[in-house]
Amino acid sequence: MKTIRDFDLKDKKVIIRVDFNVPIKDGIIKDDNRIKESLETINYAINHDAKVILLSHLGRIKEESDLAKNSLLPVSIRLSELLKKKVIFINKTRGSELEKSINNMQNGDVLLMENTRYEDLDGKKESSNDLELGKYWASLGDIFINDAFGTSHRAHASNVGIASILPSGIGFLIEKELNNMLPVIENPHHPFTVIMGGSKVSDKIGVIDNLINKCDYLLIGGGMAYTFLKAKGEEIGKSLFEEEYLDYCKKLLNKTDKIILPVDHVVSKDLESTECTVKEAIASDDIALDIGPKTIKLFEKYVHESKTIVWNGPVGMFENPLYQNGTKSICAMFNKNQTVIIGGGDSASAVINLGYKDNVTHISTGGGASLELLEGKELPGIKVIGEL
Ligand code: AMP
Repeated sequence: MKTIRDFDLKDKKVIIRVDFNVPIKDGIIKDDNRIKESLETINYAINHDAKVILLSHLGRIKEESDLAKNSLLPVSIRLSELLKKKVIFINKTRGSELEKSINNMQNGDVLLMENTRYEDLDGKKESSNDLELGKYWASLGDIFINDAFGTSHRAHASNVGIASILPSGIGFLIEKELNNMLPVIENPHHPFTVIMGGSKVSDKIGVIDNLINKCDYLLIGGGMAYTFLKAKGEEIGKSLFEEEYLDYCKKLLNKTDKIILPVDHVVSKDLESTECTVKEAIASDDIALDIGPKTIKLFEKYVHESKTIVWNGPVGMFENPLYQNGTKSICAMFNKNQTVIIGGGDSASAVINLGYKDNVTHISTGGGASLELLEGKELPGIKVIGEL
């Protein structure tokens, strides 16, 4: 796989697709982590005398009223602070002002174009990988670097479109994601334990199917555990349940004994209630919202004996402190001798927000993209790189 290191960037107009899809409220950036994650690649291009042209999406654009609140202007200001240098911001995604500004750039200059999804107002041009749009953006540069891991599972004009035309490579962020995740998925050190949680079995079937033959144990918690427990004939009360996946769970449980399910639960009668209890047997009017202490001990036994661990999805409704203990306890189970990979999304924010970032080997920056990697799929935004 070609990386940014494989190119002579001097005097070149280098288009870098970054992921600046940060949460913004009333013009204030709530979490600038994604901007910080992109700095290594941007600084490398600056230091190698490139003219750096940055493209990113932000939010979704469906109608005119989505435009102003999804402008990248606040991002350009924060990026300028972080780079300690001027960032030229052009509030357009095409046209003569953009082209002139790019032609006037000096080596080491950084330019950020407006949100690529502004083009979605016109027949979803960005998100449907409109050929003309990809061609136009490619015409603005000499080299294309994809460093937006979070969108690499989508074929958009700003990644696949441009990479189909310009010589291309990946940046440091995508390289780090692949270097950390692929060896674990393809050739893990055993014992290899997968921990899965989150709300639905249906969202995770691809991951289960890809990893069940590779792992030694699959620990299942969270809402998805209850369709499995029902498949075993257990009472699950009013806990999350997907009737149409009952059969799938039954078949899987019959096929393998690698699956470890919760043996006790933190239950409540009502999602809004401030009262909860720990139970081994769920009553018909209970909702199970977290794994209990015996399950934590049981899961810990498997985690402690593992060399490799992949975790995707919180094992309880962790947004509510009453049901955080299971997820928090899992964060605390890992040690430095283990390879621990956290799939993006909720488990990633749990590990970061609960203060356990240093306990793990790698936290993926992409929710959907990391899920598709764990499913064993090729990501279109990465597959296209270096094909020319
Ligand atoms: P996912 O996006 O599929 O990883 O699901 C994450 C969501 O699952 C979080 O918002 C959790 O609150 C939710 N969740 C985890 N465990 C449970 C549970 N036992 N009951 C209901 N929701 C849960």
